[in-house]
Amino acid sequence: MSYDWTPEMRDRYDELVRAARERSVPATTHYTREEWRWCGDVGLLGLSVPESHGGSGLDALGTASAMEAFGYGYADMGLVFAAAAHLFACAMPIAEHGTAEIRQQVLPRLCDGRWIAGNAATEDEAGSDLTSLATKAVRTADGYRISGEKSFVSNGPVADVFVVYATTDPALGFLGVSAFVVERDRPGVTVCPRWPRRCCPGARPAGCTCPTRRCQPARGSARRVRVPPSSSRPCAGNAAACSQATSD
Ligand SMILES: Cc1cc2nc3c(=O)[nH]c(=O)nc-3n(C[C@H](O)[C@H](O)[C@H](O)COP(=O)(O)OP(=O)(O)OC[C@H]3O[C@@H](n4cnc5c(N)ncnc54)[C@H](O)[C@@H]3O)c2cc1C
Repeated sequence: MSYDWTPEMRDRYDELVRAARERSVPATTHYTREEWRWCGDVGLLGLSVPESHGGSGLDALGTASAMEAFGYGYADMGLVFAAAAHLFACAMPIAEHGTAEIRQQVLPRLCDGRWIAGNAATEDEAGSDLTSLATKAVRTADGYRISGEKSFVSNGPVADVFVVYATTDPALGFLGVSAFVVERDRPGVTVCPRWPRRCCPGARPAGCTCPTRRCQPARGSARRVRVPPSSSRPCAGNAAACSQATSD
C-alpha cells in the first residue's frame, strides 16, 4: 500500500481544515445537534461508508487524512472523538456486516447526521474481553429479546441508535457473540443521564486520561428489548469480525 497522498487528498485536507476552522466553536459545553449536522454536511460522518449508502467511499488513507484535517482544524476534540466513534465503531461495522435492509435503513441517516450512533459493547465485567459479555440475546419467534447493562457508551446520552453486543450462546465464546442494531426508542431501552463530569468519571475506567473535552459517555440498559431478526443483526455470531471492522 502506498502512503503517499494524492493531490485529491491534499485538496480535501486543506478544504476540511478551512471549513473546520470556520465552523469551530470553543468547547464550553457538550456538542450540539447543529455541530453534528455540520459534520454530516461536510461528509465527516460517512467518510469510509460506500457511496451507495450515503458515504464518500474513501479508502483507509483518504479517511485517515480527512479525520486528521478535522482534528487539526476543529477546536473541540470531543466532537472529533464523537464523530470517529460514530463512524468507526458503528457505521462501518454496519456497512461491512449489516443486512441489506439495515444498511439501507440506517446508513444514510448516520452519514448525513440525522442520527447519532453509539457502540454498546463494554460492561462492568467485560471490557477488553468481549467473550465474557453478560448481555444476552434470546431467540424468539419473531426475532431476538435482548437484556443486559452497558457501562461505557460514547455518544450515549444523545444517541439515536446503538450497536449492541450480546451473547446468543455463552458456551460458544466469541462465536456466540453477535451485534444488534437497536434504536433508542425501542421499549425497554434505558439510557442513563450524562455523567455529571464533562469527561470520564474518576473511578471508571481507572486512571482515565482521556484527552477529549466534551466526550459524552453514558451507561445504559436493555430490559427484554425486542428486535427483528432481519434488520437488527450486523454480524451475527461473528463479533470478532465486527469489532475488527471497528478497529480497521
Ligand atoms: C474515552 C473512552 C471511550 C470509550 N467508548 C466506548 C464506547 O463507545 N463503547 C464501548 O463499548 N466502550 C467504550 N469504552 C470502553 C473501552 O472499550 C474499555 O475501557 C476497554 O475495552 C477496556 O476495558 P476495561 O476498561 O474494562 O479494562 P480491562 O479490560 O479490565 O483491562 C484493564 C487493563 O488490563 C489490560 N488487559 C486486558 N486484557 C489483557 C490481556 N489479555 N493481556 C494483557 N493485558 C490485558 C488492559 O490493557 C488494561 O490495561 C471507552 C473507553 C474510553 C476510555
